[in-house]
Amino acid sequence: MALLRPLNFNEKMKMKSWRDLMAESITSYNDLSFHMDSKGLEAVIKNYPILINPYYFSLIKDYNDPVFKQSVPDLLELQTKCISDPFVEDKTDSSFIHRYPDRILIKTSARCAVNCRHCMRKREIGKKEIPLLDDAIDYIKSEKTISEVILSGGDPLMLDTRYLNELLNELDNINHVSTIRIHSRVLCTLPQRITDNLVNVLSGRKSLYIITHFNHPNEITEYSEEACGKLINKGIPLGCQTVLLRGINNNHIVMGELFKELVRIKVKPYYLHHPDPIKGTDHFRVNISEGLEIMKRLRGKLSGLCIPQYMLELPDGGGKIPLLPEYIKKREDGVLKIENYNGEIYYYKEPSN
Ligand SMILES: *Cc1c(COP(=O)(O)O)cnc(C)c1O
Ligand code: SF4
Repeated sequence: MALLRPLNFNEKMKMKSWRDLMAESITSYNDLSFHMDSKGLEAVIKNYPILINPYYFSLIKDYNDPVFKQSVPDLLELQTKCISDPFVEDKTDSSFIHRYPDRILIKTSARCAVNCRHCMRKREIGKKEIPLLDDAIDYIKSEKTISEVILSGGDPLMLDTRYLNELLNELDNINHVSTIRIHSRVLCTLPQRITDNLVNVLSGRKSLYIITHFNHPNEITEYSEEACGKLINKGIPLGCQTVLLRGINNNHIVMGELFKELVRIKVKPYYLHHPDPIKGTDHFRVNISEGLEIMKRLRGKLSGLCIPQYMLELPDGGGKIPLLPEYIKKREDGVLKIENYNGEIYYYKEPSN
């Protein structure tokens, strides 16, 4: 069924800057009701703010299509058994999480170009203000084991370009930091954000990676492809974190097409995240066996370049672990019985020393 008033990304829209597009976002129940029947969603929006910029909204073609489900509030968000912060990220109220010795994650912003309904930081997106980052910078300076800084959020590329430049300069000046990683969804949700000015600010630094977030082939457009090209051409490598989501991409054909398309637009699939038990996102969850089956079907059918690691975040701050389909069926007297991607059995002899 088509929307009441779908949005066409027409010539006039194409001329607009990212800031003007953001200013025309759907941010209330009334805005949403103009485009579709949204009965009952007021209560959902009160709990979890809505924000859909017109570019991303224009990718919605139908009620409940994959872009719709990621951005339009759903009554099911209120039927939840999960807690808001299962990974105890908010143990302190600081702006950073230092879980692994060599890398630190800074929450630079609580704003995004779209408030994704499945977000793992749903508790704070579009709600709280993130504190100034001086404490994070001081901490990184004092911790010499940190070699990589991950700018996360919210979306770091929602920051003002000038402010971002200053932040990156500060980090570049810390000798023991060799790599900066930016986790941003704008390549998918607002590719217009990749302006020439931003590309200049990001390029010519120490090692800088951008890890973006696409979940469905419908999100890959000529605009996202162009934005990725601009960054790659300036020597900025791109990766993608995808979230396995029920009703959106929990299907090996859709997933395969997504990863293949990502590689085509020069984005390396990095992680496929198992959906986290986050309050208000229960309706997106699937079992691990389903994810393993998808990974198994992709191997052999797709180039290895197209295959990400399937990851599970452990509760209580246990960190991430990779989930792998079981290929080794048996070990006996130094001989492994192994099943290949086609279900055929091979025997592999290990060295006896
Ligand atoms: C996921 C995560 C990282 C990054 O982990 P990688 O496996 O290197 O991608 C770093 N810090 C925190 C707190 C994280 O949750
Ligand atoms: S862009 Fe990322 S941080 Fe922002 S709402 Fe979506 S998933 Fe969450």
